[in-house]
Order: sequence, then structure tokens, then C-alpha cells
Amino acid sequence: MEIPVTISDYVEQLLNPVDNTANSAVTTNIDQHAILSNIDDAHSHQQTANETILINISQINSNIIYPWKIRALVTCAYPKRTFTNTHGTGEISNWDLTDQSGSITLIAFNINSHIMSDKIKKDQAYEFFNLSCRGASEAFKTLPHLYQLVCTNSTRVEEIDISFDNKQENYNFIHLNEVNSIPLNSIVDVQVRVLRDYGISTGTQNENVWSRRDLHVDQDGTQLKMTLWNNQARSISRSMVGLKIKLKNVKISWFNGSRLLISMGNTQLSIIKLSNLIYDLQNNNEENSSFYISIENDSNSRQFCYLTLDELISLYRYCPVIERTLYEVIISTNLVKIYIDFEYYINNNKHIKESHIGPQTCLKIFQYFFNIGKNINSQTTNSTNLALQEFLVLEASTTEKKSFHFIHANPSILFENNITLGLFIKIMIHYCLWLTAKHKCSFFDINLILKKYSIIELISLLTPYVTTLCTHCTECQLFSNSITIAELAYLLVLNKQDQFRLAIDLNVYSNNQQFRLFDSVKRGMNNALLQSKSFPFNNKLKTSYFEILEKSIVSNVKEIYVPIISLENNQFIIKQVNSINSSVIIDTSHMKLNDINIHADAYLTPDTNSQYIINSKISKMKQIPTRNVFDQIDNQIHKFIPFVEKLINLDPLHQGYISSCIRGNHNTNIFFFNIGGEYRYCIRKGTHHARNTTAILIDIKNET
Ligand SMILES: [Zn+2]
Ligand SMILES: [Zn+2]
Ligand SMILES: [Zn+2]
Repeated sequence: MEIPVTISDYVEQLLNPVDNTANSAVTTNIDQHAILSNIDDAHSHQQTANETILINISQINSNIIYPWKIRALVTCAYPKRTFTNTHGTGEISNWDLTDQSGSITLIAFNINSHIMSDKIKKDQAYEFFNLSCRGASEAFKTLPHLYQLVCTNSTRVEEIDISFDNKQENYNFIHLNEVNSIPLNSIVDVQVRVLRDYGISTGTQNENVWSRRDLHVDQDGTQLKMTLWNNQARSISRSMVGLKIKLKNVKISWFNGSRLLISMGNTQLSIIKLSNLIYDLQNNNEENSSFYISIENDSNSRQFCYLTLDELISLYRYCPVIERTLYEVIISTNLVKIYIDFEYYINNNKHIKESHIGPQTCLKIFQYFFNIGKNINSQTTNSTNLALQEFLVLEASTTEKKSFHFIHANPSILFENNITLGLFIKIMIHYCLWLTAKHKCSFFDINLILKKYSIIELISLLTPYVTTLCTHCTECQLFSNSITIAELAYLLVLNKQDQFRLAIDLNVYSNNQQFRLFDSVKRGMNNALLQSKSFPFNNKLKTSYFEILEKSIVSNVKEIYVPIISLENNQFIIKQVNSINSSVIIDTSHMKLNDINIHADAYLTPDTNSQYIINSKISKMKQIPTRNVFDQIDNQIHKFIPFVEKLINLDPLHQGYISSCIRGNHNTNIFFFNIGGEYRYCIRKGTHHARNTTAILIDIKNET
């Protein structure tokens, strides 16, 4: 595509606005102005130094006669530029400063540019003293403010902590139908739907690479051209058609007889509705490198899609957290990291004074059973800190509920699938409860009469003693003195019916288990699942936000080559998988795996053992060859629609409809029918869920 002259001029200005002779006179004037205002400043400063008044950015104008200061966050740092004029070569730096009232541009020239660009950093807040103020040039401004600020030789900045949340930015939206009636070069905020996307073009100018993307956008029938530049142009890697987006700071420009909107260095683009993106994403996915993700919608239904890590990161970048209702779908044919869901209601458990003990006990159990950190030369011997070198603790607690996810984010071991993991966790918990019930001390002494106890039976056995155990068994040690009975007792919590239950949810290990993703919310809630402040990840290397996201995905085992725990003949075994894909059973004496195997054999009820059968069924599923020819897919899906419809309309009180259907990507024998409406039947619960939505899975090989 040919670049129109005006746009190309604009690019040049954008990259190097004063790098031509036409502008040098202006630049010289600015320099002189800056020097003059310095003198003024220095003069008035002496008389009223202690009366500097804090003002808002929106109040700034050139008529203020008293000394003032502002407290602002640096929300954009533009690339430094150089210019040449009659005095020689100089440099210029620009930033956007933002407070609750608005934003304004800050400019620094030459020596001030040099000093300031070392001092002030993006996303940090400062108090600014002795800035001078001038009118903003219509043609070059990037913010709606009528004025801009210039650094002088007496300008002073001090780093501060600012409490206002920049993420909840104030948008001053205008409607697209107003674009033709407000002044050219105005900086505005808009929300639009993308009708056409002409793709990304790139080029170089003065050794700078630029990218450009032309869009055709619409709002309530008013259509306009929009050009995104550089970062904004490259932000979304696939077609933007259908997306509803909002933009802060776009410029009303003019080309070829009509007005258009263009992005600038400080333009912020975000996606308003996540669900619009899905249809685009699910068409195009790469085998083996994508994750199964479900998205909770307003309509109480869920959509399923496959996203690569890059696509997921791009969603996180451009989708506000309130829209990020994302769950990982854990398919039980895949390898998984250890994960645990730990939660209880605060009001029902007023006796728990120290809320950190329960989560800490989980970490200690992991540390003991998986021998975390003991085989490396470690500085710390504190078992909680050792566990935190490998386990990530995410928290979404509210004033009503404590809620944690533990994820083996730096795994030293994996499980063959989440069914085997679930079974392992159940036996491990059973083992802990059984040892608690069996232990005898001056405060606790009961007789175990039955030969075998289920987890529920052990809990009701312990119920009258929970408070005693918590308060008195602080010296009753278990597991080589690494955990006390008192600590284990904190795993028992009261549910809403005031019955003791496990804080660890044992029902999160089924096939197609949905598990909330890092920094995501439940629809309509705002308690995002974030790193727990009480239990920070203790990885030696500093871990970035997106690394945390990547590591927190339970089925993301790419490039992780560690031993795998699987189930064979009702015994857990560890296999070391080497590069040529053959596996050897390795020595596991340090892993306490034998304790679990012996315990499983001796004490579990037949009821628990039924899980073993389910598990062997799943391993058979793995051998089914996948991939059918593409044109068969639609016919096969249609074949199942009447069946699914019959199923979801069986119960007249809970009518549902098929909101969408997609075929499993890795296992193409599986179809996901996403169900909307009132159909939310859950086999485990035996009734309809009030809130969770349902996906019906059709396995065309087993036809279950
Ligand atoms: Zn949870
Ligand atoms: Zn005791
Ligand atoms: Zn359920």
C-alpha cells in the first residue's frame, strides 16, 4: 500500500519531530523561552519557597502566579530524539504525566533531557517542582491538555508512592458522529467495533522501523477510517474484525478529503468484550502448543477454545481483568503439575485465629512427600520456604472466604494425568488423617475399631476433637518431625452446615476439570486470583508477571523433563522419561512414595479403589488414534446434535440450548457442546448447579 504524503510526514514527525530545518527556528525559541522562564522561576522562588502549592494537572495554565507543584505518575515515556539547529545538535525527551484529574505532556531539552531521562521512569510517581508551562502545539500534541510542561534548570523531582489506580483510567468518550464537528488535531477517546482490517504493513524511515494498520471502524452506524501505528498496529496478531475495542488518546486527523483517527505513542488500546475474539481464535490453532481454555460469559454459559501461550499473553495484555473470566480445562489424558484447591468460609470458622497455618500445612506436606529442596544445597531448612521454591500459591480470598490454589509451578515431578494426581492426593490426605486418629498423647486417645476407614469416616471420628488437636497437639510430631498433629488439624474446617470437612477440595481432579487461571476473575466478581502476599514464590530468579502466568498453567509441561508419577497395578511408580522417549523406573526411596503405596494397600476402602478402574479406562483412551479428515467433522457433529438436545431438554425445569460446538483439538474424537440456558446438571452434585455452566463432552469413540 502506498503511504499518503500527509501520513508519511506524520510518521517523520512522530519519530523525529524537530529533525528538519523548518522546525529549527521554533526549537530555538523554545530554548530561549525555557531559559527566560528559568530566570523568572529563580526570582520568584526565593520569595515564596515555602508556599509551594499542590495543584491538579487539569488546573495547569500559564497564568498561575504562585509557585506550584504536582504529584503525578509517568504513564508514557517516548523514545528520546535528537535535533539539529544553528547551535548544533540537541536532544529532546517527552513523557506523559497523569494524576486523577488528567494527563499532561512533559518536555525536556538538551542537558535537562539528559538529566531527567536518567531520573524519571515509566510507571513511577513523582512530585515535580519548578516546571514551566506553555501552550501545547496543536499539530504535535498527544494529549487533550491545552498546555504542556517544560523542564527548567531548577526543576526538581522526588520519587513518591501514589495510591491512585492508574488502571481505572478515566475515559472521556466522544461518539464517532462528533468527529466531524470538533477541531482537527483534537485528542479523544472512542469505543468502536472493527468492520474491516487491512492488515499490518511495515517499513523503515531514517533507520527507524514503523508499522501501520488501517482499519474501518463503526459506532452505531457512523463509520470512519482509523490508522494504528507501531505498538498499537502490532498489538493483536490476527484479524481484528468483529472486535469491540476502546482507545484512549487518539488524534483526529485528516487525509484525502475526510477525517480519520490515528494512534500515537501514548494511545492505549483495550478489548471491551473478550467473547468476540473467540471465534477468530478457535479457527486457527497449532497442534501441541495450545492450551484448553474456557471463558465464562454473561449468559452463564462457557465457551471453549484453544490458545497458544502467545495468544493467552496477548489476551492478558489487552483484556481488562474484569473481563478475564478464564479457566484452564484440564483434560485427563495430559500430564499435569500438582495442583490443590484450598478454601473455607471465614464466618463458619471463627475458631481459626491464625489463617496462615492451614495453607502452611499444605506446603509442609508437599515438602515432606516430594522431598523438595533437600537434594540441592539449600541455604534454608525451613520446610515452608523450601516448598515455596517450587510451589506457587495463588490467592483469591475475600472477607467471606479464604481461597488458595497451590500449583507446582517449578515442578520436580509430574503426574501422568489429573485422575492419578487426585487419587494420590486422596490417599495422602487419608494417610494424614489416619495417622492423626491413630496417634496417642495426654490430650487425645481414641480406639480405632474398624479395619478400614474412608476419609469421611475419619473426619467424623475426629470431629469432636478438632479444637483439642489444634490447641494441644502442638508437640505431637509426624513425618520426621516436620509437621505437628495440631497443624494437620487445620486442614479440617466447618462448612456452611457446620460440619467438619477438608479445606482441600478433593473434587477438582475430574476429566475436563476447569481450574481458574492466574489473575482471572469469576464473572461479576473482582477478586482476581493473584500471588499470595503471605506465601510469595521463592524462586531464586526474579519471576515476571507473564512467567508466573506461564508457570501457573497446570497442563503446561512444555520443556519440563522431570520424573513422572503414574499408576500401574494399583501402585504409584515414578518413571524417568529420557530424550529418546523410553522410560525407566527410578529409585524413589527419598520420595516417600512407598509409604503412600503401603498405605493405599492396607487401609483404603473398596469404594476408593473404584477410582483405579476409571483410571485404567483413561489410559486405554490414549491409544486411540486421533485426526480425521476435515470434511467428516461437520457431519459427525451434526449426528450428535439431536442426542445432546434431547439430553439437555429432558428436565422441563432446566431447559438448555446448544450455544456452540467444537471438536477437541488434540483428541479429535471429542466434541465440546457448550450449553447455555438453565441446563447445568452436574453428575457429581446430582442436581443442577445454580451458577456453574456445563459443557457436554461427546467422545465419539466410546459414545458415552
Ligand atoms: Zn479454587
Ligand atoms: Zn496429640
Ligand atoms: Zn459440580
